[in-house]
Amino acid sequence: MDTPKSNPFWWEEFPAFDGKAAALPETCDVVVVGAGLTGCSAALTLAKSGAQVLLLDAERPGFGASTRNGGMIGGGYRLSFEEMTQKYGRDTAFRLLVEAHVESLAFARQRIEDENIDCDFNTYGRFRGQWNNAEYDTTARGLDDLRKLIDVNIDMVPKSEQRREIGTDFYSGGMMLHDHGGIHPGKYLNGMLKAAARAGAAIMGNTPVTAVVPQGSGFVVQTAKGEIHADAVLMATNGYTTTDFAKLKRRMIPVSSFLIATDELPPALIDDVMPGRRMCVETRHRHCYFRLSPDGKRFVIGGRAAMSRMSQTRATKILRGLMEEIFPQLGNAKITHSWTGQTGFTFSFMPHIGQLDGVWHAAGYSGSGNAMAPYLGHKAALNMLGDPAGDTGFTKTQLETRFWYQKSAWFLPFAHQLYRFVDRREDRQREIGS
Ligand SMILES: Cc1cc2nc3c(=O)[nH]c(=O)nc-3n(C[C@H](O)[C@H](O)[C@H](O)COP(=O)(O)OP(=O)(O)OC[C@H]3O[C@@H](n4cnc5c(N)ncnc54)[C@H](O)[C@@H]3O)c2cc1C
Repeated sequence: MDTPKSNPFWWEEFPAFDGKAAALPETCDVVVVGAGLTGCSAALTLAKSGAQVLLLDAERPGFGASTRNGGMIGGGYRLSFEEMTQKYGRDTAFRLLVEAHVESLAFARQRIEDENIDCDFNTYGRFRGQWNNAEYDTTARGLDDLRKLIDVNIDMVPKSEQRREIGTDFYSGGMMLHDHGGIHPGKYLNGMLKAAARAGAAIMGNTPVTAVVPQGSGFVVQTAKGEIHADAVLMATNGYTTTDFAKLKRRMIPVSSFLIATDELPPALIDDVMPGRRMCVETRHRHCYFRLSPDGKRFVIGGRAAMSRMSQTRATKILRGLMEEIFPQLGNAKITHSWTGQTGFTFSFMPHIGQLDGVWHAAGYSGSGNAMAPYLGHKAALNMLGDPAGDTGFTKTQLETRFWYQKSAWFLPFAHQLYRFVDRREDRQREIGS
């Protein structure tokens, strides 16, 4: 029986942030709450504009999803263009489409380059495995429609050519998103922290913010270490938002995702399993995603073991089962790391920038934030500065709540049971060939 470490594999190369551990100042221009990709990127933009910025995290900076994720970086969103048009109108839907598919990834790449962030960034391409033949056909038609709207570097890969990309016949072909890439999440966030600090932002960990109270034209930010007076505040807490911030919390659904990493594997096995060295995801609702570690030696796979918290032993067992289902050749692989993190979903499945009672937020990446979180952190900062370059369709998306979502996401275990039913139905549908 494997006894994996419960810290993210990425934390093996995620040094404790060594920025100046300044004492809490009495005043500053902007307090950014949450030192993940959103918070770091916002702090960087704000500090570069000359603002005095304080970036706070309740835990070590980078404790949240930003250093726990699968390290896949790309664009896109979960709704179809028709659904987006119905909700937001055609102009906004088109703006969102371009930002989601093109501009957010281009921005993240540029930020990595401009700030010299050494994060093993590589344009590997992303293979999206299709669950059945009908889905493959629908996806191919959807791609044709997308091509009529914007220029995308995406192709379909028929099942007959799938083995060129991944060493399994598990999927009914796939979609190849050539411009998508991979990063090392620990190194990525570490580089973002350093860039924000270099620009002049003060960064402090182990400083939970407990309340933000309006006072005069600004705010008193209450923390476990004392109070700060700030002109403006940005909440960058996404799936880790606490009940202290009830309004935002009621709009952010903390969905857990789980990952495991294997020990180093023999090169021949790596060649067999991942011949194309792609980042991989799938379309079924179990939503497995897998890749090699940046050194190409380990296999890393994540997925929906449960939607809320579950024991790490159970999650490891479920993920190992999914891994062996897709790649029986990995049956003897030893699992060295098994960890979890919280994504921030919204009821609309779209991220959002806005204000609640005068306090700004940028959040709700709904499972995909390596490009979008730095992008919207930057856009939120520009909006706070009153800079017209902050214009984005993501101020027009909705951040709704439901009357039945008050303090805790009590409904997630029920949603998980529903998805288990969907999983079984998906399995049956494929067995009967529909
Ligand atoms: C397991 C997993 C796999 C994923 N895989 C991918 C992937 O492959 N590709 C991709 O693009 N996206 C992926 N994502 C999503 C992506 O990681 C997130 O969208 C992104 O990291 C969000 O960044 P953030 O800065 O907004 O939030 P986070 O990185 O979660 O940071 C929020 C921070 O806020 C702090 N905080 C909360 N409350 C307070 C408070 N009151 N006071 C002070 N600090 C506070 C927390 O400690 C935390 O550090 C994944 C997410 C998870 C969990």
